[in-house]
Amino acid sequence: MDLFEYQARDMFEAHGVPVLKGLIADTPEEAAEAAAKIGGTVVVKAQVKAGGRGKAGGVKLAHNPEEARVAAEAILKLTIKDLPVNRVMIAEGAQIDKEYYFSVLLDRSNRTFLSLCSVEGGMEIEQLAEERPEALAKIAIDAIQGIDLAKALEIAKAGGFSDEIAAKVAPVFVKLYDVFVKEDATLVEVNPLILSKSGEIIALDGKVSLDDNAEFRHQRESMERDQLDPLETKAKESDLNYVKLDGEVGIIGNGAGLVMSTLDVVAYAGEKHGGVKPANFLDIGGGASAEVMAAGLDVILGDPQVKSVFVNVFGGITACDAVANGIVGALATLGSSATKPLVVRLDGNNVVEGRKILADANHPLVTVVDTMDEAADKAAELANR
Ligand code: GDP
Ligand code: MN
Repeated sequence: MDLFEYQARDMFEAHGVPVLKGLIADTPEEAAEAAAKIGGTVVVKAQVKAGGRGKAGGVKLAHNPEEARVAAEAILKLTIKDLPVNRVMIAEGAQIDKEYYFSVLLDRSNRTFLSLCSVEGGMEIEQLAEERPEALAKIAIDAIQGIDLAKALEIAKAGGFSDEIAAKVAPVFVKLYDVFVKEDATLVEVNPLILSKSGEIIALDGKVSLDDNAEFRHQRESMERDQLDPLETKAKESDLNYVKLDGEVGIIGNGAGLVMSTLDVVAYAGEKHGGVKPANFLDIGGGASAEVMAAGLDVILGDPQVKSVFVNVFGGITACDAVANGIVGALATLGSSATKPLVVRLDGNNVVEGRKILADANHPLVTVVDTMDEAADKAAELANR
């Protein structure tokens, strides 16, 4: 799970990392109220999971609540790197003297943790790594040893800090490593970590990714609720394995392997049909009952980006006739809320019976196609209309 900046800010605060005040707002009015509560100059910041918000107009200074309201109004209309801005954070304004970079992450290829550090923060790290790689220190962190004060000083020195500033940032590095370990993170990044004009070190922007496999060790229900988009929430409630993607062809399959290959054939077929792409990954699992199929279709048809749906099922333990009954039942349950064309490909156990059930139902939205490639082609064609 990747956190929003305000969630990272709250997490930092809980672990004693120096941060500035921050409140969230979903409307311009709430933004003005938050600015009044914080007082003085504030920064209105788009809450989207993408870097480069500053450059995209998603970070604006406001000197009073009215300016905060106007700034929030503008920012809440933005789309940054294809992500709509639904929420802003109102943060206490900082007087910045210097901007630094610090992160710690899981380095899978070296089977260690890795800390990245530079006195040249602020800009996107990919850009720094490309333009001035020598300015970006990369220090391997032993998982047992971790980052104590001595290691933190070593990292700071390698990142180009003077002795004087290294002594100031090192304790903050130790606290950020504490966040990394105690919260089971795979990434903790601060860019910029600043030196304020009054000489304080403050984490001004935070990015945190958490290890989902360690979720059971934490109490994060409210954080998760804030995270999920409505479709993901719905899918989770029905125990469906759903991942939203960017394209137009909704995909339902049984078994992760089949769904993944379906994504591939749809992407390939899409090249001939205006470049349409898969809209999601949805695995309804082995027992594709009518209820599960209905829940899956409901999730996918609820995605406004979806133009057609490809149901690709291989009948195994649950045979094709059961799946076909599931589809017919699901369409009956959904009634007039089902409006998008469905391309269905069934194969495996009881395939003849399954196809007959769909043929007899003769639903106007359903096209049955025998092979996976032809079905992908048909679904892509329908999505491109
Ligand atoms: P990002 O562009 O998505 O990484 O968003 P950041 O939170 O890092 O903000 C981008 C830039 O805005 C920072 O590098 C700062 O230069 C500037 N900025 C952010 N907060 C403040 C603030 O409180 N005061 C001032 N003067 N500048 C800020
Ligand atoms: Mn940043």
